[in-house]
Amino acid sequence: MDRPDAETAEISLFGNGAGECIVAHLGYGEWIVVDSLRNSQGEPVAKRYLEDLGCNIDRDVKLLVCTHWHDDHCDGIGELFKLASQAKIAVSSAMTVEEFLFHVQQCRSRLLIKETSGLHEMAEVLEELKARYPKIPSPAPHYLAASGIVVYSREAADRPAEVKCLSPSSQVQHDAKQKLGKVLADSSAIAGRLRVPDPNLLSVAVRVKLPGCSLLLGADVPTGATERHGWRSIIDEHSSATHVSSLFKVSHHGSETSWHPPIWDNLLCPNPPALITTFARCGLPKDDQLSKIKSKASAVYVTRANNRFKPKKRRRVDATMSTRVTNRTTTTADPGHIRIRWPLNATPHEGKVELFDDAVQV
Ligand SMILES: [Zn+2]
Repeated sequence: MDRPDAETAEISLFGNGAGECIVAHLGYGEWIVVDSLRNSQGEPVAKRYLEDLGCNIDRDVKLLVCTHWHDDHCDGIGELFKLASQAKIAVSSAMTVEEFLFHVQQCRSRLLIKETSGLHEMAEVLEELKARYPKIPSPAPHYLAASGIVVYSREAADRPAEVKCLSPSSQVQHDAKQKLGKVLADSSAIAGRLRVPDPNLLSVAVRVKLPGCSLLLGADVPTGATERHGWRSIIDEHSSATHVSSLFKVSHHGSETSWHPPIWDNLLCPNPPALITTFARCGLPKDDQLSKIKSKASAVYVTRANNRFKPKKRRRVDATMSTRVTNRTTTTADPGHIRIRWPLNATPHEGKVELFDDAVQV
């Protein structure tokens, strides 16, 4: 694989039907990674890809963004953060009750909540922060991401770049704290029953500004029930008559809950390319949603799992499983990969699109 030169921007989207990861080149050898998934060898795909390009992860990765702690977005982010020792990390400032209890558990070593794989990644990130800042008893991530927070900026006049968070809104942060307050006030409450209405509301959408264009990376943000939640809040706070984005990483795997035409009308240029990762467990994106997205985009690209294969035969496991399910596939298939490269002073419309493995244009 060849590395883009200093004046070439790139976005690479990886997806395997059970996770997604974005790797972007901001020019001049500076890379960011948004979310993480592992390949079939168990490596974070961003690590494999950047090493294949001949990048020095330690030096070249400037920022990691963990949009939220769902398994399909953070698998391997702890390992990546340890490797990218110069990178700063941004995580959502809003936490679910489970995430908060897990945080407390990490600090107090007292068992409050069972560790899930998403929480395991959070623990890995906290461990790396402790290693980097040994004098701070409980070091925070570099950025607690929220609407309006700038998590990366390159101020050079001739080649500026900026990564700005568009969510979660102050209302969503407030709602999350309210939920937490209810749990703490009523010790008999079970945390799982007091989830925020939709944990995807906590996820961090970002706008990546480059010299010639900007990219809208939608995480799993849903439309939102009011103008202070989700995309409705992002549009209220971040629409600009003079600035629109030229590419959209469609939010939440193209689901109906994140379909909101004003995103396309207010935040994006007419007919931008749209990039989507599938989410196999929920059959996303569905055909009717894809049609709607196609009506707004110049081209729609979807990553799918490559090499979907049957699980290895194991007699006892197979006997048990066959009483419950008839058809199994693994979720460790290698990801599909969409890559667009374009001159740093231009837009992705003028770029070169490459589809690897099972990525397709639909
Ligand atoms: Zn997701």
